[in-house]
Amino acid sequence: MDSPISHDDHGFKRRGVLFVLSSPSGAGKSTIARKLLASEPELEMSVSATTRPIRKGEVDGVDYHFVTLDRFRDMAANHEFLEWAHVFDERYGTPRAPVDEMLGQGKDVLFDIDWQGAQQLHQIAGGDVVRVFILPPSMEELHERLKRRATDSTEIIDRRMSRAANEVSHWDGYDYVLVNDDVEECFAHVKTILAAERLKRSRQTGLIGFIRKLRRNA
Ligand code: 5GP
Repeated sequence: MDSPISHDDHGFKRRGVLFVLSSPSGAGKSTIARKLLASEPELEMSVSATTRPIRKGEVDGVDYHFVTLDRFRDMAANHEFLEWAHVFDERYGTPRAPVDEMLGQGKDVLFDIDWQGAQQLHQIAGGDVVRVFILPPSMEELHERLKRRATDSTEIIDRRMSRAANEVSHWDGYDYVLVNDDVEECFAHVKTILAAERLKRSRQTGLIGFIRKLRRNA
């Protein structure tokens, strides 16, 4: 987790941002993540491993690495996860090696993980982690969006709704909380947050050298 990375016009080095997007399912997080990845070449997605069954339209290795419970347990025992958690009676985890690799290549990394994952990542990588929580405008709207999505049974939708109420109660574990009334507006806010976080002084590890040079030339 210690990968300062090169960037910038003045040869500054910048620490990579571990950018976490969380929300109850159906609040629009996946759309925003997709748009962000398409518009930010220096940002790459962390693909989680999960024990849950693959859904229609999902691709193994792209949406998730779909693994058996035994395989997941092995990965956890071998410390292959940066973080992992139980979500909806299934297990989800962030494989460590690809994240290290992306940071080493000078990329920022996007995580679509829940509050438990956000909390664990923050414990491991502290100041490098930026946590953004996206809220639906209302629970009624969330229910409608889940029904419209039509990928899950009524029973699963009901479970997702009751879990959403629990998720929302963890809003204070985040650095930013946005309401997704309008996806374009919410996306613009997420982009602004990423841009500002990239510019934070604490991430500019080459600043001291630059300042020294400036002062020598003064
Ligand atoms: P879904 O099954 O709808 O794809 O995801 C269910 C929930 O699991 C979402 O809230 C998602 O953010 C979360 N999730 C996905 N991958 C991970 C992961 O690697 N770690 C954790 N902690 N949560 C994850």
